[in-house]
Amino acid sequence: MRLAVPREAAPDERRVALVPETVAKLAAGGFEIRMEHRAGEAAGFPDASYTDAGATFEQAEALFSGAEAVVHVGRPSDAEISRLAPGTVVVGFLQPLTDAQGIARLREQGVLGFALESIPRITRAQPMDALSSQATVAGYKAVILAADRVPRLFPMLMTAAGTIAPVRALVIGAGVAGLQAIATARRLGAIVSAFDVRPAVQEQVESLGAAFLDLGVRGEETAGGYAQELTPEQQAQQQAALEERIPDFDVVITTAAVPGRPAPKLIPTSAVERMRPGSVIVDVAAETGGNCELTRPGEVVEHGGVTVIGTTNLPSLMAHHASQLYSRNVASLLQHLAPEGTLALDWEDEITAGACVTRPEMAP
Ligand code: NAD
Repeated sequence: MRLAVPREAAPDERRVALVPETVAKLAAGGFEIRMEHRAGEAAGFPDASYTDAGATFEQAEALFSGAEAVVHVGRPSDAEISRLAPGTVVVGFLQPLTDAQGIARLREQGVLGFALESIPRITRAQPMDALSSQATVAGYKAVILAADRVPRLFPMLMTAAGTIAPVRALVIGAGVAGLQAIATARRLGAIVSAFDVRPAVQEQVESLGAAFLDLGVRGEETAGGYAQELTPEQQAQQQAALEERIPDFDVVITTAAVPGRPAPKLIPTSAVERMRPGSVIVDVAAETGGNCELTRPGEVVEHGGVTVIGTTNLPSLMAHHASQLYSRNVASLLQHLAPEGTLALDWEDEITAGACVTRPEMAP
């Protein structure tokens, strides 16, 4: 199977879909890999490292000719899509729930789109779970950004000049990103509390050494393990309870999300105004609008001495390891779709059928 790996076009994207380690494994398994020049450069993988792993290089215009699959991190640009032959496999974060236009464009072109977001979260598919691998990186980076910005030391320090109290951190949303944020903040020495609407996470939060903050709001969990959107009454109750408790914290990492929906608004401006000057909120949900009313996606804002970090695409800031994990996820998916290095799609299979968001026979 001939794979093409373009350089990501989005301006803030430093990741690459395949790293040399996985290129070597795929090449040994019957895949032929063609890369665009400098595709991995921003993630710390120079062209020479790919050549050593068995990849070849093409100019962008020739990259897709004869390619059976195109492997991306984000969605391909419209110009790229127009160069794809019908039936080509496209793998990436294709945003099936939020980018209807992009999905329609792939469908019109008659390509086979496999969205990493749509892979069912079953045990068998865990090695392909790029949502989890990238959320892990985002949760880690969120704490590092907070630690960099907050004018306090995270750990308790006992020095000749006396004792310094540790940072108190609150993590809202204890999914994959939130749990990694808890672990990272704990490793830095903070005292951590966390909250989620899914009651099942209390045990996970406590097993990481954080306290579960009870805001008196319990939501429903879907069959897929995701949170259901709260009712307006529950959301108002959550905001009010949070407003009471938030002044206790120096750092707030917020990751609350409901798939396919705008991020729930949890922290109103009035709550931010009750925080101590110097406190920091990192809004990991900024990309889908943010959990904080003051968040501006892609920006860092200050309000009454409180910093609200709305930096988007946190995994791209850790492009080397984020790419390494993503690449392993993608390789698992490719090996699932083409076990002997040749495409063999089994539409009865839950992973193949679940991940596929456009098929040629679905073309209008
Ligand atoms: P996500 O990114 O969709 O959401 C992040 C968190 O926000 C979730 O924990 C959600 O409950 C929480 N949330 C939503 N609304 C909230 C609100 N109003 N207030 C506070 N928190 C709110 O979720 P995710 O991190 O991708 O994972 C969600 C679930 O999927 C988890 O149960 C996780 O264990 C499960 N999962 C399963 C597998 C598997 O292979 N079996 C792999 C990864 C994740």
